[in-house]
Amino acid sequence: MPDFISLKNGKLIVPDHPIIPYIEGDGVGQDIWSQAQVVFDYAVEKAYQGRRKVKWLEVLAGKKAYDTTGQWLPEETMTRIKDHLVAIKGPLETPVGGGIRSLNVALRQELDLYACLRPIRYFKGIDSPLKDPEKTNITVFRENTEDIYAGIEWEAKTADVKRVIEFLQTDMKVDKIRFPATSSIGIKPISIEGSERIVRAAIEYALKHKLSHVTLVHKGNIQKFTEGGFRKWGYELAQREYGAYLESGQLQINDIIADNFFQQALLHPENFDVVVLTNLNGDYASDALAAQVGGIGISPGANINYQTGHAIFEATHGTAPDIAGQDKANPCSILLSGAMLFAYIGWQEVADRIQGAIEKALENQEMTADLAQASKVKALSTSQFAKRLITYL
Ligand code: NAD
Repeated sequence: MPDFISLKNGKLIVPDHPIIPYIEGDGVGQDIWSQAQVVFDYAVEKAYQGRRKVKWLEVLAGKKAYDTTGQWLPEETMTRIKDHLVAIKGPLETPVGGGIRSLNVALRQELDLYACLRPIRYFKGIDSPLKDPEKTNITVFRENTEDIYAGIEWEAKTADVKRVIEFLQTDMKVDKIRFPATSSIGIKPISIEGSERIVRAAIEYALKHKLSHVTLVHKGNIQKFTEGGFRKWGYELAQREYGAYLESGQLQINDIIADNFFQQALLHPENFDVVVLTNLNGDYASDALAAQVGGIGISPGANINYQTGHAIFEATHGTAPDIAGQDKANPCSILLSGAMLFAYIGWQEVADRIQGAIEKALENQEMTADLAQASKVKALSTSQFAKRLITYL
């Protein structure tokens, strides 16, 4: 189909007028998406003078979907994203109660988006708690499908947990459950396959971007077979599949225990290029790293399956109900996620333009209220900020 992005022999085939589904998102979703789309289209126009153009296709999820269709995540949305491979989304309201799991988790699981990619960098002009925030330039690869997020747990005092504890004590000879009568039990699976595919994705990214250090972050000193397995299988994969790069020095792979990583990332962030982590460690680390460059509200993210090509780029903040509909929200997270999307489909010129325009605006202390307060400058509204970006594009 002519306007469909597809995957052939591991490579994305991108037409000049690709259809890209977007989920506007709830709360501030509308404020930021309406501006972001204008910026994206203008950046594409500037880069390709009409030769290329995105056909944005709205698909519904979250509150807007529920109000329109009675479903939080309509089947139609999944089908469209499956068909078009690449999509972008704003923040989604997680319905409270009613047994509905996080929509974000549902999207990731349904499409097996195993790599959560979070590039963390400093933008000049932003207030940061660090002395030299520009030294932090770290790309996080967080495993997205395993670990405690598999949701295998049993509640204390239930019949199920009693069976699990009895099995552990009798069959597995476990004698270290301190308070068996009142313990909940959780199990985390970490597999060879799951570890290998995320480490491979991190190494491929490092090689593509000419970054030499890939660091495996883990808690293998405590959990020898899960976290320790992640480390071991990561090294083995690197040796087996990237031996020549290791020998030539083009690639260096090392590992660090997670708690030490948090320390070293603050003290010597320049020592890290690409870090690859299990799911929970990756969750903590990506927000902590974003915070240290003052970028928690603006850092972008993507969830990718490199085998199928499926990828969802997303604003990493929530729906910010306190400022929704007020033209106040910072659109940088969705904009930078868009830049990642364009880089992913090979439209690097567009990605560079969007990033460059944001760099210029922030450096000139043109920013929305969330950042302006700390920098003691007058805040721009979402739409004023977007207009400044257009002039810089
Ligand atoms: P939140 O990120 O929405 O808000 C936390 C604070 O950050 C608020 O003060 C808010 O005003 C501010 N903020 C967030 N985004 C901003 C932006 N773009 N510009 C300026 N300020 C911004 O987190 P929350 O209040 O914990 O969650 C609200 C809702 O969002 C919940 O329903 C939650 O489930 C959902 N949520 C969704 C996602 C997602 O879809 N990726 C992520 C987190 C939370």
